[in-house]
Amino acid sequence: MCRLEGKIALITGGASGIGECTAKLFAEHGAKVVVADVQDQLGQAVCESIGSSNSIYVHCDVTNEEHIKNAVDTAVKTYGKLDIMFCNAGIMDPNRPRIVDNEKVDFERVISINVTGVFLSMKHAARVMVPARAGSIISTASVASHIGGMASHAYCCAKHAVVGLTKNLAVELGQFGIRVNCLSPYAMDTPLVTRFVGIEGEALENVTHQLANLKGVTLRTDDVAKAALFLASDEAKYISGHNLFIDGGYGIVN
Ligand code: NAD
Repeated sequence: MCRLEGKIALITGGASGIGECTAKLFAEHGAKVVVADVQDQLGQAVCESIGSSNSIYVHCDVTNEEHIKNAVDTAVKTYGKLDIMFCNAGIMDPNRPRIVDNEKVDFERVISINVTGVFLSMKHAARVMVPARAGSIISTASVASHIGGMASHAYCCAKHAVVGLTKNLAVELGQFGIRVNCLSPYAMDTPLVTRFVGIEGEALENVTHQLANLKGVTLRTDDVAKAALFLASDEAKYISGHNLFIDGGYGIVN
């Protein structure tokens, strides 16, 4: 079933993890996909696996406004429009510093990619979606958008801010027919988490299983991609301003 037939999507952080999985799923559902990332080889490989007629890679550091503007303009020049913006690029701060040890520059790096990057992505998506009077903007927040202690204070702060941007933009852009939502997943095995906890694969899954609320189920990137697919599609045509938790109830018990 092609739930995104005729749609054009731009995915930041599309070279790896959740973004890579979502790019492939969106393409399977009929979308043309612009993959934007700083990891050029990985991003190009994602597009090769999707096929060059349905995807294009753009080098894009989300903290650089010219890069974001160029990524959005590439979508419009190549495919004629932009229907879906997935603001997904993000980092964790692996040293997980205590606040008394955290340097301003390190705090600002997390905020710059995870918040300013989302702001710039939303801004330039809105620039082309407002005249079109349609669009779906989705961001990847985290369970750290709702609770403390899951990651570092900078990451927690950043993900709370993504929810604030989402709610405000849902109001600001609703009059133009644009929906704005975010996703808040629990932890899963991606390079981001591996760098943060220093373990991967089965070892990482053992840890996440112990902490999880919902037992016997493993969260994977395709679970997040499927939620993004729903919010991107017309099936979610009246859903806006929502923070969709994909956490098996973790946020309720914590
Ligand atoms: P990942 O490391 O596999 O993917 C993140 C991607 O973002 C990478 O391809 C990376 O190159 C890209 N990126 C980093 N900085 C960038 C920049 N300045 N400009 C453009 N691209 C940049 O990690 P992931 O787990 O797939 O993370 C995707 C999103 O999901 C992040 O926002 C993360 O905070 C969020 N998230 C992840 C988890 C998890 O458990 N993996 C849980 C909750 C939320």
